Amino acid sequence: MTKTALVIGAGITGVCTAEWLRRAGVKVTLIDRIEPGDPAQTSYGNAGLLARVAIGPIADSSLLRKAPMMLLDPDSPLFLKWSYLPKLIPWIVPFIRNMTAKRIEEITAALLPLTEDSVDQHIALATGTSAAQYIRTGDYFYYYRDRAAFDKDRAHNDLLRRAGFTVIPHDRAQMLAIDPAISPAYSYAAAHPDHGWLTSPGKYVAALADHFRAAGGEFKRGEVVNVTNATVTLQGGEVLTADKIILAAGAWSGPLAKQLGQKSLLETERGYHLFLNGASYVPPHPFMVSDAKFVVTPMEGGLRCAGIVEFGGLTAPRSTAPIALLKKRIRQVYPDLTWDSADEWMGFRPSTPDSLPHIGALPDAPNVIVAFGSQHIGITIGPRLGRMAADIALGKRSNIDLTPYAPDRFR
Ligand SMILES: Cc1cc2nc3c(=O)[nH]c(=O)nc-3n(C[C@H](O)[C@H](O)[C@H](O)COP(=O)(O)OP(=O)(O)OC[C@H]3O[C@@H](n4cnc5c(N)ncnc54)[C@H](O)[C@@H]3O)c2cc1C
Repeated sequence: MTKTALVIGAGITGVCTAEWLRRAGVKVTLIDRIEPGDPAQTSYGNAGLLARVAIGPIADSSLLRKAPMMLLDPDSPLFLKWSYLPKLIPWIVPFIRNMTAKRIEEITAALLPLTEDSVDQHIALATGTSAAQYIRTGDYFYYYRDRAAFDKDRAHNDLLRRAGFTVIPHDRAQMLAIDPAISPAYSYAAAHPDHGWLTSPGKYVAALADHFRAAGGEFKRGEVVNVTNATVTLQGGEVLTADKIILAAGAWSGPLAKQLGQKSLLETERGYHLFLNGASYVPPHPFMVSDAKFVVTPMEGGLRCAGIVEFGGLTAPRSTAPIALLKKRIRQVYPDLTWDSADEWMGFRPSTPDSLPHIGALPDAPNVIVAFGSQHIGITIGPRLGRMAADIALGKRSNIDLTPYAPDRFR
């Protein structure tokens, strides 16, 4: 029986795991080198979208054709720090292998149970806590340049319909009725009902962690330097023990998993946001600018524009071009928009070559459960992933087939 647990990482994944375990009566210590909700967490600066429809893998085979041109095009949302390329190859090779039609179908089938009830999962976790004030529900839109661009996206929309989602086309007049400031450059849209978003992802994570602490959970500040099947060692030498250890350290999980004999093939897709404080106009819903691949979300205090994929590892400094691109792109969406000041941010998506998270007990260290690799959808699936990790730690049978997320699948 699991009486005690250590959870490494207090981003959305770790906080949700810790809280579900605490609610099950486990004595939990949540460990992080920074405070929950700190801007250095990826869970802080994302687009805040509870993206139920995000059931496709990160990329399909069309990227292979487009990538060389995209990398040379300063207006493309794909960036690479070229000196990082040799380190990326072990990840890119299986990434490409996962682009077959068969694999895409399998990956989609494995992502669906993680995302489909994500809004309900957030509400279930946050109700009765101060985190609930940051959840909004409503439609999520894709904005297209024109009808032809929407038609070109048919495969994506057909996939969503087959999975049971509703896709409601909007012409320019219908768009203007709900988003009157939208530029004439965008004349078609698709609405995806029953979605959600967070008005401050960082404050949301912090509020969940505050609730966890107030209800008896322990938060310990420290850098984890070593993990075994029974212990966690912090920088400075303190050794903590527990019945179960959950590794939820986001993009930094790889080296800790490796200490336990686990090859994780975790890479980071660096992403950026531009936060427009005091934006003169805020739309009533979040939307994806489909040609520029960034999300615009109405948030507390302004408008967040978040997206970009940059390969460059965990230590290279922030680039300036992605932020300049977001600034240029938001002006194409809302030409008359003004704002008081802008914040710039970069974070680290934890991404696997098959777009699926690692979730499960480690074969060589069965008391350690991993829960990381939630790529572009970690906020969406945080409560679900946390519940799954907690159930595994509690020895409960999952009603979802866990095979696709097996931590040792890249062995
Ligand atoms: C630009 C951008 C936009 C995004 N938009 C969305 C979106 O709209 N919707 C969505 O669902 N997802 C989105 N995402 C993805 C989402 O933000 C991530 O998948 C998610 O935040 C990952 O959460 P995490 O808890 O795994 O990692 P993190 O939030 O990064 O937390 C990991 C924690 O582990 C701690 N840690 C690591 N190593 C150690 C150690 N050795 N010792 C102690 N502590 C350690 C870190 O300090 C950190 O606090 C976006 C990401 C980006 C970059």
